Amino acid sequence: MQTPDPVAVRAFLEDRHVELAAGIAEFGAREIGTLAEPADDAAARAQARHILEVLGRADWFAPIGDQDLRACCLIREALAAASPLADAVFALQALGSLPIVLAGTAQVKERWLPAVRAGRAMAAFAMTEPDAGSDVASLAATARRDGPDYILRGTKTLISNAGIADFYTVFASTDAARGRRGISCFVVPADAAGLRFVGPQVLSAPHPLGEIAFTDCRVPAACRVGDEGEGYRLGLATLDRLRATVAAAACGMAARALEEALAHALGRRQFGKPLAEFQLIQEKLARMAIELAAARLLVYRAAWEADRGGSAGGAGSAGGAARVTLEAAMAKAFATEAAQRIVDAGVQILGGRGVLASHPVDRLYRSVRALRIYEGTTEIQHLIVAGQLIRAAEAARAAAAGAAGSNP
Ligand SMILES: Cc1cc2nc3c(=O)[nH]c(=O)nc-3n(C[C@H](O)[C@H](O)[C@H](O)COP(=O)(O)OP(=O)(O)OC[C@H]3O[C@@H](n4cnc5c(N)ncnc54)[C@H](O)[C@@H]3O)c2cc1C
Repeated sequence: MQTPDPVAVRAFLEDRHVELAAGIAEFGAREIGTLAEPADDAAARAQARHILEVLGRADWFAPIGDQDLRACCLIREALAAASPLADAVFALQALGSLPIVLAGTAQVKERWLPAVRAGRAMAAFAMTEPDAGSDVASLAATARRDGPDYILRGTKTLISNAGIADFYTVFASTDAARGRRGISCFVVPADAAGLRFVGPQVLSAPHPLGEIAFTDCRVPAACRVGDEGEGYRLGLATLDRLRATVAAAACGMAARALEEALAHALGRRQFGKPLAEFQLIQEKLARMAIELAAARLLVYRAAWEADRGGSAGGAGSAGGAARVTLEAAMAKAFATEAAQRIVDAGVQILGGRGVLASHPVDRLYRSVRALRIYEGTTEIQHLIVAGQLIRAAEAARAAAAGAAGSNP
C-alpha cells in the first residue's frame, strides 16, 4: 500500500494528482525519510531549514500558490509518513503564505510568494496569544496607524517556525472597539525592528515552536494583507482551507503506523507463530485500516469540495476563498482523533520496541498528539459542525414556516 494511497480516494482526484502521489511518495522515502531524527530543538530548527530548501528545490510548494488543495493533502500525507517535521515545514509554508495568496497586494505577493515557493523564505503564521487560543477574536495585539506605517505591539505564543522564519503573517487589532471586525492581517519580515524572538517552546517531537514579541514594531502600511478589519475573516478562511491538510497529515502518520505494525506482526513470532496470526492482533489491524480508510474519504471529500469552489455548507468568503467549513471540520476532527488511536495501536503491536525513542512509531506517537490541538482543537471542530447543522436546520424551519404562511 502506497502512502499517500490515491487508489483509496480515486473518485476525488484527477490524473495529475495520481501522478503527483506517486512522485511525492518516492521523493519522501528517498529525500526525507532518510534524514535522522534531530537530537534536540536546535538540531530540529536546522533540519527544518534544510528540509525547506530540499522541498523548494523540487518545487513541492507549488500547489500552495496554485491553491490545489488535493495536491497539498497528498504532499502532506506523504511527508507526514516520512517525517512529521517535514510535514510541519510544508504546513507552515501554506499557513503563512495563503493569506498573501488570497488577499495580498501585487507588491507583497511579488516580494514573498516566489521565495516561499522556491524554499528561499520560510513562512510563519502568528495568531495565538497567551490569552487568545481557541477564542481567537479576543486577541490583544494591536496595530496602530501612524502616518504611512502601522506600529505593532503584543505577544504571540506557540508559533511554529518562531525564531527561524523569514516572515510572520500576523493578526492584530487595528480597532479594538470593533472586536473581531477590527482585526487586520500584516506580513512582518523577521528582521523588522521591534520584532523579537522571545525563545523556543520545546515539544517532545521535533517541531520548531516559540514565542515572539512586538515592541513598537513599525511596518509600512503596504505590509497589510486585505483591508483593515478583514483579518479575522481572512484568518478563518485560511484555516478553513488548510484544515483538510492537517487531516491529511494525520492520515499519513496513521498509514505509516499501520505499515510498521503490519510488518512487525508478520515478522515477530511469539507462542510459536507470527503475531499476525493472533486474532486480537488482526482485530487491531482491521480497526486501524478501517479508520484510516474512513479518514481519507473525509479528507479528500473536503479537499475536492474546496477545489471545486466550496459547498453550500460553507457560508461566505474572504479574498475570493471558497469556504468548506463543515467538510473541513469533520475531516480534521475525525482524522486526527482516528490517527491518535491508530498510532497508539501501532505502538501496542510493536510492544516494547514501540516505545523506544529511536523507533518510527514512537516518533509518530509523540508527533500525532498536537494535531488534535493546533488549527482548532477537536472540541472547536465539533462546535463548528454542530453550529453548521443547527443553522441549516433553523433556516429550513424558517423557510417551511414562510412557505406555510404564504399558502392561500
Ligand atoms: C504544535 C503546535 C503548533 C502550533 N502552531 C501555531 C502557529 O503556527 N500559529 C498559531 O497562531 N498558533 C499555533 N499553535 C497554537 C494552537 O493553534 C492553539 O494551541 C489552539 O488553537 C488551542 O488554543 P490554546 O492552546 O490556547 O487552548 P485553549 O483555547 O485554552 O483550550 C484549552 C482546552 O479547552 C477547550 N475549549 C476551549 N474553548 C472551548 C469551548 N468553547 N468549548 C469546549 N471546549 C473548549 C479546547 O478544546 C482545549 O481542549 C500551535 C499549537 C501547537 C500545539
